[in-house]
Amino acid sequence: MGASLGGAWVSVSAAGTAAQFDIFRHVPRRQTKRGAERTPLAADADVLVCGASFAGLAVARELAGSGAKVLLVDRYEMGERQTSACAAPTEWLEAMGVADSIRQTFEDLVIRTPHVTARMQLPWTFSTFDYAELCELLFRQCDGASFETAVASGRTANTVQTDRGELSAPLVVDCMGWRRVLASPENGYQPPEAPLSRGLEVHPWGAGDELEVWIDRRYVPAGYGWSFPANDEVRVGVGSFDPRFHVKEPTVRLAGDAGRDAVRYQGNWIPHRLRTATDEEVFYVGDSAGHCLPLTAEGIRTAFYFGIACGRELRRVVDGRSTAAEARRRYSAFSAAHRWKFESLLRVQRLIPRVPPRLLSLALRGMSTTAFVRWSFGHYLRIAHPAYAQELAARPTPGTRLRAAA
Ligand SMILES: Cc1cc2nc3c(=O)[nH]c(=O)nc-3n(C[C@H](O)[C@H](O)[C@H](O)COP(=O)(O)OP(=O)(O)OC[C@H]3O[C@@H](n4cnc5c(N)ncnc54)[C@H](O)[C@@H]3O)c2cc1C
Repeated sequence: MGASLGGAWVSVSAAGTAAQFDIFRHVPRRQTKRGAERTPLAADADVLVCGASFAGLAVARELAGSGAKVLLVDRYEMGERQTSACAAPTEWLEAMGVADSIRQTFEDLVIRTPHVTARMQLPWTFSTFDYAELCELLFRQCDGASFETAVASGRTANTVQTDRGELSAPLVVDCMGWRRVLASPENGYQPPEAPLSRGLEVHPWGAGDELEVWIDRRYVPAGYGWSFPANDEVRVGVGSFDPRFHVKEPTVRLAGDAGRDAVRYQGNWIPHRLRTATDEEVFYVGDSAGHCLPLTAEGIRTAFYFGIACGRELRRVVDGRSTAAEARRRYSAFSAAHRWKFESLLRVQRLIPRVPPRLLSLALRGMSTTAFVRWSFGHYLRIAHPAYAQELAARPTPGTRLRAAA
């Protein structure tokens, strides 16, 4: 089972009968492999990234040109299943080199409550984008990475069990969302007990000019509704901080009230609490580490941000400047250093549902002043600032190999 490459690397094989595949090739444009097409995988990789969405692609992108063989796997074809309303700060999309996927850009945020409508002129813009296109644009920047569809089900040490065989690598990253598939199962992190919000949206065809948010208990007692236009479709949804509150009926109602059809559903659980970003073998990035921001449920730019941080640590290992254990320690500490910011947002998330609606509307009016919006949104962006994407990561010498995974 496996071979060695340059003294420090990996094997990917399936029960000795594996057909050999050259999996280090470009991602094909096709739907997820089914049935007989799901042949066992065999390959070698230095870094195995499970989950090829925002977090996974940000990790792989950071390893481009490092000489590391990176294998990305996902249960679906890359970009096939949209995982969010796909709105993010424009500066982040530009910094990641994916501005071509932008569908619409907004300078204002409109917040609607039963008593007041507040229009906030943002100090930076938000853009909606096309998910499939963004994934493709990110993957194009991942030189040295390959992609395969495979469903991961668990892990023993640094070997990941998938429906296409066992995959091993010295460096393993879980970017598969809140389920944190590669963590030990006794963690028992399940809704409704786990700190997870519910999110559901519909994607009717149509156009709109405003990025709108509803803080209205007629839709959701603790949470908010949204309508994010994206050129020829609108993403209308409801998120509930309380996992016991079901959001299908309010989503359909909000869509109806906004004059939209409730069609093409997309939903998931959204983590609202930071988790440890590593364990003894694995790096966790994005929703698997609880990197989605509480209160706003913004998890794309944080998946990019922490994905870059993780990728930079992995790069140090590939480059021989760090061991895997050091990389886990450093990345874990980097993530944990943000805990107080996540906890502050969580406190506000818990406070807002307790504020009487009229008082909330009054407060919102006060918070819509240019000075306050500049100040608060400036701080908010700094939690995971796009400048981080452009900071020069110390680039390794291409071709250097992994130091022994300590
Ligand atoms: C309805 C809704 C709307 C949202 N809107 C926004 C928004 O507009 N802006 C924003 O910033 N955030 C938004 N979020 C939050 C955001 O979607 C997440 O925080 C973000 O997607 C996290 O990125 P990720 O890469 O960690 O995980 P994901 O994007 O969830 O990607 C996980 C990947 O892992 C794959 N995977 C899962 N299990 C397995 C397995 N067993 N084997 C192999 N692959 C697997 C999945 O197919 C997927 O590709 C929204 C969330 C919801 C639910």
